[in-house]
Amino acid sequence: MTIRTLDALGDVAGARVFLRADLNVPLRDGVVGDDTRVAALVPTARELLERGARLVVASHLGRPKGTVVEDLRLARVAAVLAEHLETSVTALDEVTPDTLPDERVVVLENLRFDPGEEANDVAFAGALAEYADAYVDDAFGAVHRAHASVAALPELMLASGRAAVAGRLVEREVSVLGRLLVDPPRPFIAILGGAKVSDKLGVIASLTERVDALVIGGAMAFTLIAAEGGKVGASLVEADRFDDVHRALATARERGVAVHLPTDVVAAPAIDASAPTEVVPADAVPESLMGLDIGPSTIAAFGEALTGAGSILWNGPMGVFELEPFAEGTRAVARACAASDAFTVVGGGDSLAAITRDGLAGGFDHRSTGGGASLEFLEGRRLPGLAIVEDDA
Ligand code: ADP
Ligand code: MG
Repeated sequence: MTIRTLDALGDVAGARVFLRADLNVPLRDGVVGDDTRVAALVPTARELLERGARLVVASHLGRPKGTVVEDLRLARVAAVLAEHLETSVTALDEVTPDTLPDERVVVLENLRFDPGEEANDVAFAGALAEYADAYVDDAFGAVHRAHASVAALPELMLASGRAAVAGRLVEREVSVLGRLLVDPPRPFIAILGGAKVSDKLGVIASLTERVDALVIGGAMAFTLIAAEGGKVGASLVEADRFDDVHRALATARERGVAVHLPTDVVAAPAIDASAPTEVVPADAVPESLMGLDIGPSTIAAFGEALTGAGSILWNGPMGVFELEPFAEGTRAVARACAASDAFTVVGGGDSLAAITRDGLAGGFDHRSTGGGASLEFLEGRRLPGLAIVEDDA
């Protein structure tokens, strides 16, 4: 896939460029936790500023669902952006103000405060289009969303003869992930975990078409184990997805894709760092306990499964890594990836936070800023934010 990039943008000196950014950072008690995504925007923002553009930066933050949520205002993130860019940044407290201040970098308020964003509303996109002479999408984490700032807005821009291109981050993600999509060094192993079970179950099905083995941990594993008749106690399970699980596992079997599930788990009565823990079989978790991390036998087995891999894609922590008693599985898998000779790609906000905290981020060949986006891209789907900047020349 070739996309139009900043190289195709033309002269932007004195022009106002709408920069769709991914400033959707993790917030803990109102403080910006991991600023990877802000840092990732810097090359594009700097280049545009050096080329003389003025920037209208826009992003979503969290899931406010179309209303103003005080804790999800972008001002705090804009301040972090200012530090990274070493320039002043003006954060606005409205998504679509009547006029923009005449500053070099302004940040609009959280796009998702307006219901028009997630609805891909054309009128809302029209209001955003008023601000810009050109459009740049560098929000890789949102390219899989058919939302107004990702889909309707660039469409309007193109329809009115204005440019719409991808930024440097999107360009790099597409080129690196494209390698896993087109011709991955084999064996290609995907490790999936985390808590967004529904989101990721669909991914399992399509990934079985592409990978040689699947390694599954985190909360997601319990829906698979339960679907196969295992007793998972009070662990997180989405019982309405058992049919999808059966279908995905059947495809895996047909294709000869090995599926590695946990055999033992660290369990506790609650998600609490001071709760007593015990290691129990993954398919015989006592009623009163929840599986909160993969156990030591599973860590060893997963390590073995990764031996000799040509490429590894990892998305989603193996346990509740935020709490030390349940952090070891995620750390061990990160170490195994870092030690591997394989081409290693990790994505997902929490996965990145985990490896950064443990000082293991440098062990990966590529850290994707898009969790859901990178997975959907690797499913081979046509993503709205990329389709619109596709080079059809
Ligand atoms: P990512 O952001 O990397 O895509 P997710 O958002 O899907 O990952 O999931 C991350 C969350 O999953 C973390 O907050 C972690 O505590 C949680 N999690 C992982 N394993 C379990 C488990 N066994 N039970 C409950 N929560 C879990
Ligand atoms: Mg997450």
